[in-house]
Amino acid sequence: MAQKISVTTKVLKGSMNSKEFKIQVLMLLGLVLATFISTEYSKSQDAQEQKVSEVALPLRCFETEIDSLWRSVVKEGCGSDKSLGAGNISEPKTEVTDLNIYVKNRFLAAQSMARKEGINLVITSGFRTADRQEYLFKRAIAKYGSAKEASKWVLPPNKSHHPDGIALDVNYPGNQVETKWLEKNGFKYGLCRVYKNEWWHFESLVAPGEKCPALVPNAQTKIE
Ligand SMILES: [Zn+2]
Repeated sequence: MAQKISVTTKVLKGSMNSKEFKIQVLMLLGLVLATFISTEYSKSQDAQEQKVSEVALPLRCFETEIDSLWRSVVKEGCGSDKSLGAGNISEPKTEVTDLNIYVKNRFLAAQSMARKEGINLVITSGFRTADRQEYLFKRAIAKYGSAKEASKWVLPPNKSHHPDGIALDVNYPGNQVETKWLEKNGFKYGLCRVYKNEWWHFESLVAPGEKCPALVPNAQTKIE
């Protein structure tokens, strides 16, 4: 009988020690949380992989062929200094003095793919200072007769994305036939043609591999 009691006490001691119990509950909660986080993380990884699987692979990442756009170009393949950025590249919060590095890298990667296909693709105008943009805008007003008409082609400095370093004008020297190459292939690198009236103007409107939005009639459409 005495033995029985002693066993019961031991069991009670073991299971009812509140400090140990709390620790065990905390550990269990931690485990549940860790499992949840890793499941969610792998779900989002899957979504990203799926999103880019629509792109014809392999692509070229600068001078290297790559077989996975998301993993290789954005995260690893092109190296940290050559990242294409993960999303769309929007207006900077502070003043800039050069073309956005992601926009630049996206162009260089696309240019490398074009070169492989025998197409010469160059930037004719990327970053512009506000003064330069002002000059171009005034010149367009003189040419088109009004600020409204001019802004279909050249926006004022506070509206244009060129002084923000997130817009590119391109050309195909010596091959004017291929002016649609970047329009067709740019989305693979997150570069989109924006306006119906400007085949040469591109911005990073999407993440690499995502579908570009429909064209808008002209630059003025954006500020109406
Ligand atoms: Zn432009």
